[in-house]
Order: sequence, then C-alpha cells, then structure tokens
Amino acid sequence: MKITAIQLSTLNVPAPPPRNTYYPHNTYVIARIRTDEGIEGLGYTMLVGGDGASSVRAYLQDNLVPRLIGEDPLQISKLWQKMYDSDRGIRKKGIPMYALSAIDIGLWDVLGKSVGRPLWQLWGGAADGLPVYGGGGFLSYTVADLVKEAEATFAIGSRHYKMKVGLPDTIEDAKRVAALRKAIGDSAKLLVDANQRLDVHTNVRLAKLIEPYDIFWYEEPVYADNIAQCAEVARRINIPVATGENEYTRYGFRDLVESKAAAILNPDIMRCGGFSELLRISHLAAAYDIRIAPHLAPELSVHVLASIPNALLLEWSISRTPIWREEPALDNGCMRVPHRPGHGMEFSEAALAKYLAK
Ligand SMILES: [Mg+2]
Repeated sequence: MKITAIQLSTLNVPAPPPRNTYYPHNTYVIARIRTDEGIEGLGYTMLVGGDGASSVRAYLQDNLVPRLIGEDPLQISKLWQKMYDSDRGIRKKGIPMYALSAIDIGLWDVLGKSVGRPLWQLWGGAADGLPVYGGGGFLSYTVADLVKEAEATFAIGSRHYKMKVGLPDTIEDAKRVAALRKAIGDSAKLLVDANQRLDVHTNVRLAKLIEPYDIFWYEEPVYADNIAQCAEVARRINIPVATGENEYTRYGFRDLVESKAAAILNPDIMRCGGFSELLRISHLAAAYDIRIAPHLAPELSVHVLASIPNALLLEWSISRTPIWREEPALDNGCMRVPHRPGHGMEFSEAALAKYLAK
C-alpha cells in the first residue's frame, strides 16, 4: 500500500455554554491520509481555544506531508521515526508533536481499516467499558454551574467530576471546593486541576485547605516545564498528583516518572505522539504501577486503555458540541469500545458543513 495524498483541513468547533465562558471554540487540524488501495485514514489533533492551530497545520504541510507521500502507511513505526528524525534543529515538544500525533492517528486508522478490526483488538484488548470522569468545572463557572455540571455527570453513571482551581484568592478556591463537596455528597469522587497556575507554596497551602474534602487527584500544580517543582508538590501534599497533558513522548514521561512527579499520568494522544507513543508511555508507566487517565480525546484513547494493565479513567465532557457521525457510546458511566474498523471515528456531515474553516 502507498500513501498518495494527505489532505489537511481545519475545523473550528464552538464550545457550548457554560464552557464558552472559558474559551469560545476548539480547533481540530485534520489530516486525511489517502492510499492507492482506496483506504482513507482520519488523523487529527485538537488545539484548546484554537491557539497554535495554523502553526500545526503549517508544520504538517511543510515538514511532514512531503516526507510521507509514496510511503507504505502500514509501516507505522518506521514512519513515526522518520517524522521524529525529520527535524534535528528543534526540540520534539509542542507544535511538531501535535502534527506528528495527527499523522500517527491517521496511519493507525488505515492499518485497522486494512484488516477490518478496531484498534483495541489489534493490541489484544478487552471489550469491557472504560469508566469516564466529567471534565469541565472552569474557573469562570459559578458554584451553581459547577453543581449542575457535576450532577449531569453523575446522572450518566460516572462517579468522578473534575473542577478547576487556581484563583488568585486561595481561600475562595477552597470555598468553591467545599461548596461543591457539600452539594454532591461524600460518595462522589472529586478531582481538582490547577492548570499550571500556582507556585509550589500556594499549591501546598491550597492542598492543605481542601484535603478534608477527600480529593481524588490534584492535577498540574505548576508549569509543566518545571518537573522538579511538580515533584516537590507531589512530595509535600497528601493528595495524589496527576499530570502530563502538556508533556510529550516517552522521554518526557520518563522524566516525570523518574522524578516521582506524579502518581497518575494524563497523556494527551493528540499531543504526546499519537497511538504509538501513548502505548509506549502506558507500558513504561505500567512498570512503575502508575495508572493512565488520558487528557481529552476519549474516543481515541479508549482503544489504548482497553489494551493496557494500568488504565484508570477517560475524560468526558458533559457540556460539548456533538461532532461525530457516531458519538462515543456510554453505558452506566463507562465508554464502550467501538467495534468499527480502525479508530472508528468520522466527523459528521453536519459538523463538517457548519465548522470547516474556509
Ligand atoms: Mg488538566
């Protein structure tokens, strides 16, 4: 099989309320991999708020696509390395890894479709459902918004809900956590996410204030670039630290693991290096009994979590804009693995008609 063309496009998907109080839209950069056997793979990555989307697309167009035309799309490991090695003048984080991830996702889709199997099955996975947690809970939400979103999450059978922390006023942060815990009761699992907003001391102070509210994990306390500080927070607080949505490749996750910076890892398949690298990162973490709760893209990550020994949770958004031809299937708080060949996802005609950038 040969790659004959890779068609790039951009999809700007508006965020629904109350999520749009935090960012107005997300942007998907799409890479459709066409082959001489008529099989087409759908690759994509997603930029939160759309920042950097045009740069990712330019990197794909200028650096990756020309190197892939004429190659065999089934030789994914070889092509991953070819893309990774293609530019030795920049570090493999950020823009280039978003771009590489989109291609890797599309290549695996071609491979799955070529043998008529879903990806989780190619990796020896089980067809059990994977539990989801409700992401959201932005700082722009009122406490009433938090309660409403959390209750909507529990209504689909999930037991886990995540809210943001990191307000300038730490006491106010802790009050919001206390108010939500009071509203949802003791049995629900409550997660918090600082989105790199706080310094070490403020994290330690906040963690101490909210520890009585039984917090399931404490996410991304400090700048993702400062692994030593993340490890310091992890040592000093009594809540498990989760991080990794802004980390890239097995090398970045090796550093997190070796530094004891996190008890739980949150790799993002659309950034960290696609299916190939999420599998490698998961296997690396499994040797340390560290569990994997991928950031976003549950429709893709579900294939990996179904295939690894250290799966924890998938991230799901209750308030979201439907964009898929077949939306991911949820059953009592668990996402069912798709049985369609490849990764099994395709954007709906309606979403493409409405949101495709001109
Ligand atoms: Mg996060």
